[in-house]
Amino acid sequence: MKQEIPYKIYLEEKEMPRQWYNVRADMKKKPAPLLNPETQKPITLDELSGVFCRELARQELDDVTPYFDIPEEIRNFYKMYRPSPLVRAYCLEEKLGTPAHIYYKFEGNNTSGSHKLNSAIAQAFYAKKQGLKGVTTETGAGQWGKALSMACAYLDLDCQVYMVKCSYEQKPFRREVMRTYGAKVTPSPSMETEVGRRINAEFPGTSGSLGCAISEAVEAAVSQEGYRYVLGSVLAQVLLHQSVIGLETKAALDKYSVKADTIIGCAGGGSNLGGLISPFVGQMLRGEASYDIIAVEPASCPSLTRGVYAYDFCDTGKVCPLAKMYTLGSGFIPSASHAGGLRYHGMSSTVSELYDQGLLTARSVEQTEVFKAAQMFAKVEGILPAPESSHAIKVAIDEAMKCRETGEEKNIVFGLTGTGYFDMVAYQRFNDGEMQDYIPTDEELKKAVSQLPKVEG
Ligand SMILES: *Cc1c(COP(=O)(O)O)cnc(C)c1O
Repeated sequence: MKQEIPYKIYLEEKEMPRQWYNVRADMKKKPAPLLNPETQKPITLDELSGVFCRELARQELDDVTPYFDIPEEIRNFYKMYRPSPLVRAYCLEEKLGTPAHIYYKFEGNNTSGSHKLNSAIAQAFYAKKQGLKGVTTETGAGQWGKALSMACAYLDLDCQVYMVKCSYEQKPFRREVMRTYGAKVTPSPSMETEVGRRINAEFPGTSGSLGCAISEAVEAAVSQEGYRYVLGSVLAQVLLHQSVIGLETKAALDKYSVKADTIIGCAGGGSNLGGLISPFVGQMLRGEASYDIIAVEPASCPSLTRGVYAYDFCDTGKVCPLAKMYTLGSGFIPSASHAGGLRYHGMSSTVSELYDQGLLTARSVEQTEVFKAAQMFAKVEGILPAPESSHAIKVAIDEAMKCRETGEEKNIVFGLTGTGYFDMVAYQRFNDGEMQDYIPTDEELKKAVSQLPKVEG
């Protein structure tokens, strides 16, 4: 096979982005503002600065500045594992017999195993710069907790992680990675916070949820001197930091004059997808190019494809600001999908607004199909993908197979967000033929969205 384009397109260190790109700056209709849950007025910088570090609160509220300099300290940390390769999936193309050209941006080349480190280091850096003692956060499957504990260890910052109880018990390896990097990991709901005690009293023996762990982490941050809360997805600041993925992808494609046709990413809270597509969507918003962008979510937690676009709580304890987003309702508890990173009830308000404006489409896929795609990918491309990332693989394969029918030589680009070495229990179920696909009924979804907060106006 003639390989005009290298198997891996690496940028040089000096070609790495020096600024993050804020796609909101190019949106004519902006994502709806975060609201203070008590006053229902747009949240102010001062209010937000009580929960988040000041610089991050500023980034969160800024929807007009297109570029933010990446501080040198963060760029130096990025150099430990970036630029990440853009891989031409020659072996997968051959296996599929497709005329399409498939590329994937691989973010799993660091110990945390995913793209989450890109934002973890930024958030830890601004906390350190503000002179804080530490940060608190929640983690579901453990990917974000791992990334944050690595970033905090590097900057000598205290790191307190509330880990959803069932994951704490079922995913001891992720938990121990966090502890090895020095984080304090508490199973949630715990008896250490008021909201934790309340939830434990109300639902004895509960195995916890992401929304509940968020409430605990926020309480822990605001009740300890010198602490702030940090979050691994959903927020606009996280999308901003993750734009490094899209900027590098675009630079690598441009280097070989490749124009992407289809761009695909998995969507949990929307941060990797938002980061990957930002520079491309920016071009669309400025009328410079057009792309077919596809968000992929699990059929078990279908916020874009079956949710409603409304203001909702970001957490179960209802302490966080209200965000307008595609949501299944903060009371929705998805079935135990093995892609833990895609189990959030809502979606980034930036991704939600772009979706509402028709700049991207969404598709939901069932997990058995996802694992079939993951296995095929692992066999031909060598990398054992994370279940979350495999949602994007599945749709990339579907799109490539359509090209086989039509003969089109489309350029398909997808985000391979991480590796699945810590997800072998899920792979075991798949290998044993015991994996189940669960799709919520319309009644279940109706019930959860009937409890959305009432927002005036
Ligand atoms: C957390 C996670 C995701 C989903 O989060 P987003 O914010 O939607 O990007 C996807 N892939 C991996 C490997 C993850 O760890």
